[in-house]
Amino acid sequence: MDMVKQIATLEAEILNRLRHWGRYSTFDGSYDPRTTTGKSDKESTDWMMCDAMKTELAMSRAHETNRDFGTTFMEVQWEVAIELGRILAETIDPAIAGTDGVKIEGEEGGACGICLEDMERGEEVRAMGVCGHKFHDHCIFQWIKRKQNCPLCRCALEPKKYTF
Ligand SMILES: [Zn+2]
Ligand SMILES: [Zn+2]
Repeated sequence: MDMVKQIATLEAEILNRLRHWGRYSTFDGSYDPRTTTGKSDKESTDWMMCDAMKTELAMSRAHETNRDFGTTFMEVQWEVAIELGRILAETIDPAIAGTDGVKIEGEEGGACGICLEDMERGEEVRAMGVCGHKFHDHCIFQWIKRKQNCPLCRCALEPKKYTF
């Protein structure tokens, strides 16, 4: 694996632990992952390692191609960002990839099929990509963690595919 891919993969793994988009997320929101205290030691160490790897790569490029470090470092950061974007898009949470964020308009509100509470006009909810049935964000995300289908009509969840 080349260095750019390696750094991007490491960053994706950190994000996966920190954010809720990953099904494998273990982050409970009880601490600030950017600080160096408490439980966040692993994250900070990994972030610092990413930075060190980028610096090292940029330095060797600067040396090999006789360019200044500032330029090669920026180049490395861009390449890692692009690679990271690719990894995230391909592995994104099916709950997000299989539903669309929509706003309840006019009279179409009605009850959420999961919690049976009303969805108010103007409220941001999630619509299933295939059948269009709408539910509260938190309701459908909880559901999709257990079942990959629509709670109302049982059609299968189909995460959008990303191709690069
Ligand atoms: Zn609901
Ligand atoms: Zn449905």
